[in-house]
Amino acid sequence: MVPLQSQRKRLSWPSLTGRCVVSCTMVLLTQFALSLVPRFLPTSPLLIQLSLSVVLMLVVVGLGGLFRRLLGIHASAPALVFFNILFIWCFYVLIIRKGLSLVMDVVFNGEVVLLLTGLCSMLKSDPGLVEPSFSDKLVESSASEIITAHNEDSDFGRRVRYCKICKGYIKGFDHHCPAFGNCIGQKNYLLFMVLLVGFLVTEACYLACSSEYAVKSGTSSMLSSETSLSENLAVSTRIFSILQLVWQVAFFTWHLYGICFNIRTDEWVNWKKYPEFQLIVQYQPGQSSTEIRFTNPHDKGILQNVKEFMSLEKR
Ligand SMILES: [Zn+2]
Repeated sequence: MVPLQSQRKRLSWPSLTGRCVVSCTMVLLTQFALSLVPRFLPTSPLLIQLSLSVVLMLVVVGLGGLFRRLLGIHASAPALVFFNILFIWCFYVLIIRKGLSLVMDVVFNGEVVLLLTGLCSMLKSDPGLVEPSFSDKLVESSASEIITAHNEDSDFGRRVRYCKICKGYIKGFDHHCPAFGNCIGQKNYLLFMVLLVGFLVTEACYLACSSEYAVKSGTSSMLSSETSLSENLAVSTRIFSILQLVWQVAFFTWHLYGICFNIRTDEWVNWKKYPEFQLIVQYQPGQSSTEIRFTNPHDKGILQNVKEFMSLEKR
């Protein structure tokens, strides 16, 4: 088994440092740009603030793209995730945690440490890369041959797909996750789901902590410029957490659905490429008019599907 990392293009140290610097700058730019929303529109409804924050985030991403084209330096998605967590954590330690209960403080700090550990594990994890000799056979084979060749295996053993980014064949391939810098496949799907839950819980906890801070600071009579900036950041990081929560809940629900009905994201998107998901319906016997419909041969009922998912990593 060849580690997945060895198949990817290895980055040199100067290039890695450059990407980290760009990512860190982009995170700082985004977070301070977001703080302008409560700075100039402090009394506007939450929905307006959320919409404006989305627009601002898109502007910063657009600027990042321009920067990339002009200077040829890329940001790194996992580094963006890492620096965003770090920014929120630093802001929490410096501002939000003051006046919070010890239990809440311990819980939040513990969650962030677990999240960062999970993120590092995810980056290094094996998604279920298949042996090079097996891959070579797959390159030469047609899709139907792949299925017959591994008929004796389990359903997941047969579901080997190619990732263009990693340039490798992954068992139970779901998708390539840029944010986690790795493929999501049979062997790290459970870790991926745990990590998603970790993100949801940590964001929700940050929301609770910063809301408590807002209640307390709202009664404060201090209105120096420093307090004002921290208060703006307290609001904008809360808005950022809400936005993160919204898309993470949607993302988590999507994957939960996939587990319950035993279908991977790649199979949903590209089912027309995989014959096993195609059901040919003939309207009238003897007539040539047919229709190709989606069918999922792997769906064995929610209970069995979840049971199978839980035992995936051991296979
Ligand atoms: Zn990949």
